[in-house]
Amino acid sequence: MKCPNCCNVELTVKEVEGINVQLCPSCSGIFLHKGELQKIAHHTAGDVEYSSLANLETSTISELSCPICETEKMVNINFASYSDVIMQYCRKCSGIWLEKGELAQINAEIDKLNHDEEPWEHSFKVFVSKLPFMW
Ligand SMILES: [Zn+2]
Ligand SMILES: [Zn+2]
Repeated sequence: MKCPNCCNVELTVKEVEGINVQLCPSCSGIFLHKGELQKIAHHTAGDVEYSSLANLETSTISELSCPICETEKMVNINFASYSDVIMQYCRKCSGIWLEKGELAQINAEIDKLNHDEEPWEHSFKVFVSKLPFMW
């Protein structure tokens, strides 16, 4: 499998969080098969791949072709559909291409989400518990 970013560079297998991913030794991009992002990214309650596909219809076509499907151009999708982290997604095989450093950015987004959620949920529950039952 060749790197979609570099000419004629073969991807090599690298273990990340116990999962074998395809890594480019030249640009450090990684290709993930369907379901692998969920496994190597920090843990979160939601499905990080599914939640990134909400705007798929309006996503723009990437310059990169899928390393598996070869002639199939990938599309640009935002991680979790709103973040600034842009991933390349293959609509044919559901593979994801991440450029160098993007996994770290994704993990930072997940940490932010995980961190934000609890205080918000907590204050919401406190707020609800204080509501008078007028009805
Ligand atoms: Zn490369
Ligand atoms: Zn593909």
